[in-house]
Amino acid sequence: MKKEIRIGNLSIGGQQPIRIQSMTNTDTADVEATVAQIQALQAAGCEIVRVAAYDIASAKCIRQIREKCKIPIVADVHFDYQIAIAAIEAGADKVRINPGNIGSADRIKMVADAAKSSGIPIRVGANTGSLDKKYWGTEKSEALVQSALENVRCLEKAGFTDIVIALKASDVAASVKAYRKMHALVDYPLHLGITEAGAYDSSIVKSAMGIGALLLDGIGDTLRVSITGDPLQEIRAAKEILQCAGRRTFSPDIVACPTCARTHIQLEKLYHQVKEIVEDIPYYLKIAVMGCIVNGPGEARDADIGIAGGEGIGIIFKKGKPIAKVPEEQLLEVFRKELQQMLK
Ligand code: SF4
Repeated sequence: MKKEIRIGNLSIGGQQPIRIQSMTNTDTADVEATVAQIQALQAAGCEIVRVAAYDIASAKCIRQIREKCKIPIVADVHFDYQIAIAAIEAGADKVRINPGNIGSADRIKMVADAAKSSGIPIRVGANTGSLDKKYWGTEKSEALVQSALENVRCLEKAGFTDIVIALKASDVAASVKAYRKMHALVDYPLHLGITEAGAYDSSIVKSAMGIGALLLDGIGDTLRVSITGDPLQEIRAAKEILQCAGRRTFSPDIVACPTCARTHIQLEKLYHQVKEIVEDIPYYLKIAVMGCIVNGPGEARDADIGIAGGEGIGIIFKKGKPIAKVPEEQLLEVFRKELQQMLK
C-alpha cells in the first residue's frame, strides 16, 4: 500500500479511491476563464486540477483561482524554482515539478522547503520528452524510473517525503513497464497517465490500455487521461476506465450484443434509447441490451435488468430471468417502468 498524502481537502494513496485529475487549457492569467473551466471540470467529477504556472504573474493568479474553486489546485512548473515558490506562496495545493529541469540541488531544496512549510506535496514528473541527456541511450522505461528516482532522492535529501511520482511516455508499453518497476521500488503514491495520447478516439485506446493495465495490477493512486481537446472529455474517459477496471463505479454500464443473423430488432437504436434513459443514474447498475431471446438473457446473466429482442416480440429480464414478454413496440416503455420500479 502506498503512503497516504494530503492534498488540499482530500487524501490520495493509502486506501483512498483513485482520484481523477485533469488540467486546464485556459490561460492561467485569465482568472475568470480558468475558474469557469475548473468549475465545469469539478461539476463533471474532476477531483484534482492542474494549472500551468508559466511565469511569476501566472503563478500569483493561483491565489484568486484557489479562492473560487473547491478542488485542489496543482501548479505545473518547469525550469524556474522561483515560479514554483511563487505558486506555493499563492496557495497551490501541490506543485508538479521536474527537478531535472529546475536546476541545482540548492534550488530544489528551496522549493522543497517552501512546500514543507506550506504542508503541500510535490509531484515529481519524469517525462520521456524532457529526460536528462545522460539517459538518452538507456531503455525508455528504465530511463524514466532512474530519472524519477534521482529526483525523488534529491527531494528526500532535502528532507522532503510528501512525494507523488508520475512517469510519462507517449509509448504505452514503456509507460506500463516503468510504472510496474516503480511500484515495486517505492511506497510513494503514483499518478498514472499516458502523455500526448492525442484526441479522444486515440487517447481512449492508449489510456485504456496503459492506465487500464496498471489499474488491473492494482497500481495507481491518481490518474489523468490526456486528451487533445476539451478537458471535460478527460473526466468522462477517466470514469469509464476506472469503472471498466473495477476500481470505482460512477454510472450504469450497458452491455449490448454485437448483433448477428439472429438479430431482428433495431438493436443500435434501442441501445441509444436505453442509454438516454439510464445515463443520469448516478450509480452503478449493469444493464443489457441484447438482440435475441435465444441467447440474450444467458449472455447477460449478471445484468441487473435487460431487454432481449425477438421476432415482433421481446422480453424484459432481470438477473438473467425473463419477467415479461411484450410486443416489440412496447419494449422500451415496459423496460422504463421496470427500471423505475427497481430504482425505488
Ligand atoms: S445476443 Fe443473440 S442476436 Fe445478439 S449476438 Fe448473441 S446470438 Fe446474436
